[in-house]
Amino acid sequence: MLFVDTPIEFLKGVGPARAAMLQRELDIHTYGDLLEYFPYRYVDRSQRSTIRDINIDEPYVVLRGTIHDMHTVGEGRSMRLTARLRDDTGQIELVWFQGIKWIRESLKPDTEYIVMGKPSVFNGHINIAHPDLERADNETASNRKYIPIYSSTEKLKAKGLHTKGIAKLTEQLLRLAEGRIPETLPKSVVAKYRLPDRANAIEVIHYPLNQHDIALSRQRMKFEELFLLQLDYQYAKHDRQMRSNGYMFSVVGEKFNRFYNERLTFELTGAQKRVVKEIRADMKSGHQMNRLLQGDVGSGKTLVALLCMLIAIDNGCQACLMAPTEILANQHYANIKQMLEGLGVGVELLTGSVKTSAKKKIKQRLQAGEIDILIGTHAVIENDVAFRNLGFVVIDEQHRFGVEQRSKLWTKSAQPPHVLVMTATPIPRTLAMTLYGDLDCSIIDELPPGRKAVKTIHCTDAQRLKVFSFIRSEIAKGRQVYIVYPLIEESETMDLKDLMDGYESIVREFPLPQYQISIVHGRMDSEAKDYEMGRFKRGETQIMVSTTVIEVGVDVPNASVMIIENAERFGLSQLHQLRGRVGRGAEQSYCILMTSDKLSNSGRERINIMVQSNDGFRIAEADLKLRGPGDLQGLQQSGILQLKLADIVNDEPIVRAARESVQEILDRDPRLEELDNACLKLYIQKNKRALAWGKIS
Ligand code: ADP
Ligand code: MG
Repeated sequence: MLFVDTPIEFLKGVGPARAAMLQRELDIHTYGDLLEYFPYRYVDRSQRSTIRDINIDEPYVVLRGTIHDMHTVGEGRSMRLTARLRDDTGQIELVWFQGIKWIRESLKPDTEYIVMGKPSVFNGHINIAHPDLERADNETASNRKYIPIYSSTEKLKAKGLHTKGIAKLTEQLLRLAEGRIPETLPKSVVAKYRLPDRANAIEVIHYPLNQHDIALSRQRMKFEELFLLQLDYQYAKHDRQMRSNGYMFSVVGEKFNRFYNERLTFELTGAQKRVVKEIRADMKSGHQMNRLLQGDVGSGKTLVALLCMLIAIDNGCQACLMAPTEILANQHYANIKQMLEGLGVGVELLTGSVKTSAKKKIKQRLQAGEIDILIGTHAVIENDVAFRNLGFVVIDEQHRFGVEQRSKLWTKSAQPPHVLVMTATPIPRTLAMTLYGDLDCSIIDELPPGRKAVKTIHCTDAQRLKVFSFIRSEIAKGRQVYIVYPLIEESETMDLKDLMDGYESIVREFPLPQYQISIVHGRMDSEAKDYEMGRFKRGETQIMVSTTVIEVGVDVPNASVMIIENAERFGLSQLHQLRGRVGRGAEQSYCILMTSDKLSNSGRERINIMVQSNDGFRIAEADLKLRGPGDLQGLQQSGILQLKLADIVNDEPIVRAARESVQEILDRDPRLEELDNACLKLYIQKNKRALAWGKIS
């Protein structure tokens, strides 16, 4: 066994109980894990505080003063030792609950000490429990200037593993580790990027001598972390590309041409043409395609997907389009069916609410190859759905599908189908680089001509009457209006009440028969939802009151006003998605963000960004900066959140360098056969993290 793989239990001072606790609380299982459990900050011992200026929020302060008035209080188990520490500016209490006898004997009253510890407030006074003490006259140059501070948990602290306890363990482990921490990066990489070697970097991060070394060593470990993550993804991608197992779609045939020439009433945008070309190139390469298609709402992604599905059909294959909600699936089905009318393409819809008998028929026809395009929700990935020859898969709004769900589609074909993943929630560049290292990426960065940018306005409750009269004037011009309420799972019942109250007030304000109002929410069955959506789509109702179920993909070009209630409760990406529901026609459209008068700072910031920008990519970057990657949908299964040191928002330059470096290596040595790359080969073999993502879209 490698030294770094030694179970943590065997480290002196750990043992089974603490080991179990370290595993549970900090995910530390081995020596290697503890070595990589880095301090989150340092206390500079030369930066002393005075007692008067102690900041009790500090995890650690360094004081210099004399000890007075030592005495014990209480009896038996509740006995404690207290003393007073005094400097020129004031005094505080020091307190011990354990080892009292020894401390009382060794502490010298009226003598100067350097005292370090975590200040806390007890009975209105500041004290420090179990401080570190050393005689001031004993302070030598060999003492460490920086004390590492490790984060710990209440449970660990109860077992003596507060920051000091952890520091003791790391110090001991580092002594043992001398010469036994292997390098993980190829020599060529270490040299090229002038990185400190691994053992050195690790030691320095725990016990640094100066700030400069800390920075360099942390850079090195961040680089390593991002490099290995990239290696996971890119190795999987190279691996896939080296296998020649993709369907070869070499012809552009009759269906595509007839659709393109006879049905398309508009010219494709330049961006759409470019993307279709990119996908075409993949489809005839002989390698299986895994491509991410990003484009703002309304940029025409679905149309691109349809064109590509037709190519698959022209080459004798079936295609499948999977959407995250039933509403969306229904809508895709209705649109596509209508667009393909008379072209002899078999299109079917499969969702949870299709009747069992109809389902059975669809499945039979699918297997017989009588259906060319299957559109549906996750019903299409149920076990008993079998295709005859599935060659092309489109996944709409991918972030709503879990990894597992997606990987199921993959298994529905003997030969892996080409996969196109579409998202209207743009992924910030750094994130895309890190997360989708193994996907190719196409971007539609151009809206169809004639679209006017949506005007976004922030209104508070006080302006509600104005908003109502604005709605009236838009409806008078023949337009339609969405009014959206938040629906957040934990408080679903409350939210439903909000929605119903809102609905009633809207009905009062916009009475029948002049106004017709639709309502859609998650608690309705899909038949009722479809009915209401249908009425709105056909223009029979002027106002659609709903929860965020309409968030993705709903397409009613005549709707020109989107009102978002309690807008401060939505995340930026969601607000942007909702706003994308309007501005689909040629009319000027509006998005009105309703909030209360009082807003938190972050709420205000989100609203301001929305008012200022229509650019999905800018909004996504801002979202990432405001919330951090932890809250972004779909990232939970990715490696991003397991990063220990690196932070993809602030370490973009390192992300870039690591990515380039991995690319260079894999281009030159795709199977990692060079001696210098042996460490990487080993890593790949040991690490299974790549599997989850490598196989999937
Ligand atoms: P997305 O899926 O990216 O949100 P869609 O493919 O649904 O966008 O397109 C939005 C609307 O724009 C649809 O009504 C579609 O027919 C229309 N559209 C798509 N491409 C063009 C184009 N090049 N010119 C004009 N209209 C287009
Ligand atoms: Mg869409």
